[in-house]
Amino acid sequence: MHLLPSTVLLGLLATAPVFAADPATALQCGQLFDSRSGKLLEARTVVVRDGKVAEVLAGAVEVPGARSIDLSGHTCSPGWTDLHVHMGSESSPQSYSEGFRLDDTDYAFRSVGYARKTLLAGFTSVRDLGGEVAPKLRDAINQGLIDGPRIWAAGKSIATTGGHADPTNGYNSTLSHLLGPQGPTEGVINSVEDARQAVRQRYKEGSDVIKITATGGVLSYARSGDAPQFTIEEVRSIVDTAKDYGYRVAAHAHGEEGMKRAVLGGVTSIEHGTYMSDEVMSLMKQKGTWYIPTIYAGRFVADKAKIDGYFPDVVRPKAARIGALIQDTAGRAYRSGVKIGFGTDMGVGPHGDNAREFVYMVEAGIPAAVALQAATIRAAEVLGVTDQGVIEAGQRADIVAMPGNPLADIGAVLGVDFVMKDGAVYSQRGRAAQ
Ligand SMILES: [Zn+2]
Repeated sequence: MHLLPSTVLLGLLATAPVFAADPATALQCGQLFDSRSGKLLEARTVVVRDGKVAEVLAGAVEVPGARSIDLSGHTCSPGWTDLHVHMGSESSPQSYSEGFRLDDTDYAFRSVGYARKTLLAGFTSVRDLGGEVAPKLRDAINQGLIDGPRIWAAGKSIATTGGHADPTNGYNSTLSHLLGPQGPTEGVINSVEDARQAVRQRYKEGSDVIKITATGGVLSYARSGDAPQFTIEEVRSIVDTAKDYGYRVAAHAHGEEGMKRAVLGGVTSIEHGTYMSDEVMSLMKQKGTWYIPTIYAGRFVADKAKIDGYFPDVVRPKAARIGALIQDTAGRAYRSGVKIGFGTDMGVGPHGDNAREFVYMVEAGIPAAVALQAATIRAAEVLGVTDQGVIEAGQRADIVAMPGNPLADIGAVLGVDFVMKDGAVYSQRGRAAQ
């Protein structure tokens, strides 16, 4: 250790209390979204200390010793959570061939930018449902090496042979033979024993949550977007093994039969849920299963399917057919009383545009307050945590603010210009903090 001459040290101490604890911050919010009641509260001052909310005071209050941030004319909200993203990629017409050219490090560097955009859009937490980059990205963010949201990472999604997320779908026979059959290590299972091993492998790799692809998917290089792809016994084996490690299971599903097996098998959430029938909805209500619609991804792929050459021929009809239906399903599910969490499937669409999902939810007939709850207090329930999702004493200081009133005009969510995560300010008045 380098020793400072005592005079220099004394000089430092005299001018700056470098060893003092961080001063408190007082956010003077014009309005505050109370995610418990779904109502806006007028003029609140949120006092933040040591990364947590210390107290919430009525009115715009100057707190002695605290630095004030004037957010009058703004609505403050608990930081948002996107329950379905893929931080390691972003789709484009090149996505299908890039995998043969790029290395893991290329994807890792790209994810640094995606993480920052996501955070600055107001998303202080995400659940990454598939991608090998996410667990390491999570660690780099937690270590303060790069800026990004708090991440719950699934790591490699679990599929069956030829299913959505089998990593060698669409490969030619030479490559397929070279790589050999994919197994639980690569996230491909074909029995209850494989299912158990695949979950344990994810544990070994540092996952926080398990993702399965219960039916075919839109963007995979395979014909069916909705066929069931697991037996119910395989789903049960995954859910039971996941419990041993404290994991919850998220199930990608478009088709009805695969969705039914996933719900009966005990998964925590259904993702996309395109062909969700009344029967599946009542099963979900009985079992307390969450629905994460990802309307954004549906609209995005339906839109891109109109462009010649954007998707491979095998993908294009699935994107056109399935994508267009999700927004309608979200509205039906809400009206039937299924519990809804917020998710976009970003990585299909461009990272950083996540808040547009709120607008699509409202278009589907979901009240703005319910949509905001889906990304705050409800999202915390889906994750199984109790220290985020509301602005109350003792909670993590994850707070975002936007000009205007998102309950009166949901478009306000696209104008977030203040982002705080764990008490640190990442963006203020639209400018990223240095
Ligand atoms: Zn996804």
